[in-house]
Amino acid sequence: MRPGQAPGGSLLLAGGRVVTPEGVLSPGWILVTGDVIGAVGPGDGPDQAAPRLPVIDLRGQWVLPGFVDLHVHGGGGTSFTEGTADDARHAAAFHRAHGSTTMLASLVTAPLGELEARAALLAGLAEEGVIAGLHLEGPFLSAARCGAQDPRHMLAPDVGVFERLRAAAGGHLRVITLAPELPGAAEVIRAAVRAGVTVAVGHTDASAEVTSAAVDAGATHATHLFNGMRPWHHREPGPAGALLDRDEVTCEIIADGVHLHDMTVRLAARAAGPGRLVLVTDAMAAAGMPDGSYWLGSRQVDVAGGVARLAGEAGSPGAIAGSTATMEGVVRHAVAAGVPVPEVAAAASTTPARVLGLGDRTGALRPGLAADLVVCDDEFGLSAVMRHGQWLSGFPAVARLSRARGPSR
Ligand SMILES: [Zn+2]
Repeated sequence: MRPGQAPGGSLLLAGGRVVTPEGVLSPGWILVTGDVIGAVGPGDGPDQAAPRLPVIDLRGQWVLPGFVDLHVHGGGGTSFTEGTADDARHAAAFHRAHGSTTMLASLVTAPLGELEARAALLAGLAEEGVIAGLHLEGPFLSAARCGAQDPRHMLAPDVGVFERLRAAAGGHLRVITLAPELPGAAEVIRAAVRAGVTVAVGHTDASAEVTSAAVDAGATHATHLFNGMRPWHHREPGPAGALLDRDEVTCEIIADGVHLHDMTVRLAARAAGPGRLVLVTDAMAAAGMPDGSYWLGSRQVDVAGGVARLAGEAGSPGAIAGSTATMEGVVRHAVAAGVPVPEVAAAASTTPARVLGLGDRTGALRPGLAADLVVCDDEFGLSAVMRHGQWLSGFPAVARLSRARGPSR
C-alpha cells in the first residue's frame, strides 16, 4: 500500500480539527475504511485501533468534507460549455484538485440544438462519475437580467423544450435555473418538479410576489442570490427577499470577494442559516488561468486582475461574467468574511449534497459516507484532497502529510 492510500485497507487521519455536522472536534480523528468513512471521533484516535493502522498526522490542519459545487461552467482553461469531452474532464479535474469532490456541470443559454448536444456529451461524463449531473442555467431567463448570458438565444419557458433538454441529458439533469416572471414558467416549474429536477430562480426581474408564487409552484433554489436579479429594495424586496424569506429555498452565493460585498455574504449567511446557504464558484474556463480572453458559451469574456467581464464597448466595463473562483477560494473567503467555519462547511458541502439528493452518500464527515474530504492549513490554504478514499495526486503537501506517526502509536 502506498503511503497515505487506503485501497481496501484502513487509514487513520489524526490530530486535525475535524469539522463534523455536530461541531468541530479539536483534535479529532477519522478512520477511512476503503472508500468510506468508517468512524469519526474526538481526541487522538479510536481506543481500539488496529495495531498496524497507518496514521496520517494532521496536527495544525483543518479537515472539512469534500466540497460540492452546484454551479460551475469550467476551469483550468477549458469548460463544460464548449470543447470536447476531454476538455470537460480537464475542467472537472481542475476543480477536484481545488477541493470539489462532487460537482454539477453548468451550461449557459445557447441555441437549442447546441444545448442538446452539450447535454448529451455531459451526460456521458455523468455516467462515468466525473460529474454528478447537469445544471441548465438557461435558456428560460430574463433578457433584462441576462448578465453574461446571451439574450439572443433565450426562450420563453416551454414544457416541450424542457423535455427535449431533459431527454438529451439522459436522466442526469439535476437543476434548471429559470426566470419565473416569463409566461409559461409555472408549467415548466411543475414539469421539472414532477421529473425530480430542482428548480432554481435566477437571471430574473421578477417581483417578490411572483418569486413567492414560483416557490409555491415548486422552485426550491436560488441561483447566485443577488447577482443577475432585480436588486433588493426595502419596499420591493424582489427575488432576493422572497427567496431568503422562504424556508424551503436553498440560496447560492458567490463569495469570491468580487460578486458580493463581504457584508452581504455575512447577512445572507445569517438570514439563510447554515441549512440553506450554498457556496458556489460559478467559475468559467479562466479559473486558475492568467488574465486574458476566454469564452463563456457564445460570449467573449476578458479577465483582468482575476475579474471576468463581458468584453464591453470601448471605455465601458462589461457585466461581470462568471468567476475565476475555486471552491477552495470561496471557502477561504467566506471564513475571512466572518462566516463561522462549521457554517461554511455546511454551505460548501452538506447542504449542496442534500440539494442533489446525495446527503446519504457525501457532504459530511460522518460514518458511512464516502471518504470525500479536504485538508486545509490554518489560513484555509488547501493541503490535500481525498475522493472516495484516495488522495488526489498533484499535491506536494500530501507527501509531507503522509509521514505517518508510525504503527506503534
Ligand atoms: Zn453561471
